[in-house]
Amino acid sequence: MKTIGLIGGMSWESSLEYYRIINELVKERLGGLHSARCIMHSVDFADVEPLQQAGCWEEAGRQMANAARSVEAAGADFLVLCTNTMHKTADDIQRHVRIPLLHIADATAQRVIARGLRTVGLLGTRFTMEDDFYKVRLTDRHSLSVIVPGEAERCRVHRVIYEELCLGKVQPDSREDFVGIMGDLASRGAEGMILGCTEIGLLVGAGDCQVPIFDTTRLHAEAAVDLALRAD
Ligand code: GLU
Repeated sequence: MKTIGLIGGMSWESSLEYYRIINELVKERLGGLHSARCIMHSVDFADVEPLQQAGCWEEAGRQMANAARSVEAAGADFLVLCTNTMHKTADDIQRHVRIPLLHIADATAQRVIARGLRTVGLLGTRFTMEDDFYKVRLTDRHSLSVIVPGEAERCRVHRVIYEELCLGKVQPDSREDFVGIMGDLASRGAEGMILGCTEIGLLVGAGDCQVPIFDTTRLHAEAAVDLALRAD
């Protein structure tokens, strides 16, 4: 089994999910007392979030690269960055380590394609829904079409992520809004729904959407276990 290197803390609410899913899957696949070999470097999100809001992605990338280097030095075989948004710095991270970064958008797109779907709705932070680093990866590398919510809805989704979910708050009115927003994306042609923020799965699930849901936390964790257990 390879050692999984996790960069977490963004937020720790979802890092917890990664740790749980990864260990559950290793136990399921190997049985008995097996658990995942992994190393987590968990950052203080209060240091990172202001850099995102201020657009200081270079400094954010430096911090992610430092975390990645420490995980590599501790013996990780590959990297799992436990947030969609910070994949904006994926190239910076990869430049500073020899071990590969398992990209969350690739892990997700592969599952969308395996289901035979081509057009997806995308929910996440404003950075994920609006900037190129994520959408262009889905469209150019994986030939998917991506639909995002309108301006007001993107604002709402972004606020719920930072002001509620990253603080461990799961509110029924926010769930209702997300259900409405996902319904709207489906009516605009989305055949599947990417929960492109690692905390959204804490708020909504398969029963809340009329099209299949692709929860990036679960799919990324599954891809990590597949890679860790792959014989090569
Ligand atoms: N965990 C979130 C994501 O997947 C948002 C927090 C962050 O900005 O990293 O994008």
